[in-house]
Amino acid sequence: MTNKRENSIEISKAEFQKMGYKLIDTISDFFDNISDKPVTTSKSPKELQKLLGDSSLPKHGSAAADLLTSTSKLLLDNSLFNGHPKFFGFITSSPAPIGAFADLLASSINANVGGQILSPIATEIEKQTIKWLAEFIGVSPNYGGVLVSGGNMANFTAFLAARTAKAPKSIKEDGLSNSKQLITYCSKSTHTWIDKAAILFGHGTKSVRWIPTDASNKMNNQILEQTIKDDLKKGHQPFMVVGTAGDVSTGVIDNLEAIAAICKANDLWFHIDGAYGAPAAVIPELKELFKGIKDADSIALDPHKWLYSPLEAGCTLVKNPKHLINTYSSHPEYYNFSLSEEGGSLNYFEYGLQNSRGFRALKVWLALQHIGNDGYIKLITEDIELSKYFYELANKHPEIEPVTQNLSIATFRYIPKDLEKMDKKRDTYLNTLNEELVNNLQEGGELFLSNAIVLEKYCLRTCIVNFRTTKKDIEESIEIIVKEGRKTHEQLKA
Ligand SMILES: *Cc1c(COP(=O)(O)O)cnc(C)c1O
Repeated sequence: MTNKRENSIEISKAEFQKMGYKLIDTISDFFDNISDKPVTTSKSPKELQKLLGDSSLPKHGSAAADLLTSTSKLLLDNSLFNGHPKFFGFITSSPAPIGAFADLLASSINANVGGQILSPIATEIEKQTIKWLAEFIGVSPNYGGVLVSGGNMANFTAFLAARTAKAPKSIKEDGLSNSKQLITYCSKSTHTWIDKAAILFGHGTKSVRWIPTDASNKMNNQILEQTIKDDLKKGHQPFMVVGTAGDVSTGVIDNLEAIAAICKANDLWFHIDGAYGAPAAVIPELKELFKGIKDADSIALDPHKWLYSPLEAGCTLVKNPKHLINTYSSHPEYYNFSLSEEGGSLNYFEYGLQNSRGFRALKVWLALQHIGNDGYIKLITEDIELSKYFYELANKHPEIEPVTQNLSIATFRYIPKDLEKMDKKRDTYLNTLNEELVNNLQEGGELFLSNAIVLEKYCLRTCIVNFRTTKKDIEESIEIIVKEGRKTHEQLKA
């Protein structure tokens, strides 16, 4: 106690406790009352900037307790709350409250999970988390991998491992110059990460073959096979096929088993982007849809989506984790410890793009245990049932046209009663109306949904990865959508 350095950063034990208890009171009130709040703030970016002011960084520090009090209020009054029971936008889940504790605890320990020597127990926890995730989605627990910031990073991490495995051995030294053009295949509904990866890793976006989808929005595997043949004829080198397990617009799962067979026949890497949908593979009734997942060379999945982890948490799983080490391991002289490759310590910096790494495993690990396998089955099943209920109510309502329903995503559009008169321009008008409606609903704060374009129809889209949503929320949401739809229609007509 005696030999303490005077400084402006340390917070005394008594102060830390006092501030901590107060903050926990604020957060527990927030969780308890979240459904009474608007889903999002009505303030514009300009108004928000005004709240912050435009002064320079303060020369002198301020009391931490005051900062925490004022900042809690600032955030609680001006945020979008994806933990709100009527938040259905994009694929962002309501966060498991235990994750808030996990982040606090993880930041306090501040494990650097890049090297085992820096994070003795944290490394083991990350390893166990990855094994549990593999078991959870029904693939062999021998898959290895790494936790990353999200789906994009999980897919990038796998992309480069696929390239190391399938491209000429010299690619790490020579780069792409000595290789044939390396071609990637994916369906038209694949998430934009694939373009970013092609740019980032120097392949160029022209190396991506966006394969058309069939009527059910799955990748057309006949066209896939033909395209691979054509590319081989042209002297290119196909190296990877991406199957999607839950596409971001409509939740469709590609025919994974057939893609696996095509990959096997052509010696291609089979990657599954299951950032959103992979956790649904745990549901017994859905096992058939995910057939083929066990054959994936790599899988991307996002605990911060359907496992309700707070942001950020993604995961890359690789059937033979050696491919990650071959891709990412390096041997700098300033690391004295043994490396994974030599059967030494498990250093996660050798498994992916990051070097220093946070302890994001903790919130995933704790949520997995807090909820448990069966708890997750119940939550995911209910999310799917609620989405079906949304679709069913949309179908029953004379002013809503249901469009698709897969996993926990429903799409539909608002159709005013008095539309018969405008035959020809009907579709164009409906697209404009529904686009405007999405914007109005997002700004309104009563609920939050996003959009999807399905077969050229501009649709409203709800994705339920939200353990707070109830049937009543959905019944009320239908009313809100119709009320806002009528209003928007009147405005557009005028
Ligand atoms: C969400 C999603 C991504 C991107 O994940 P982030 O966590 O937002 O980076 C990629 N692919 C699919 C299928 C997704 O649902």
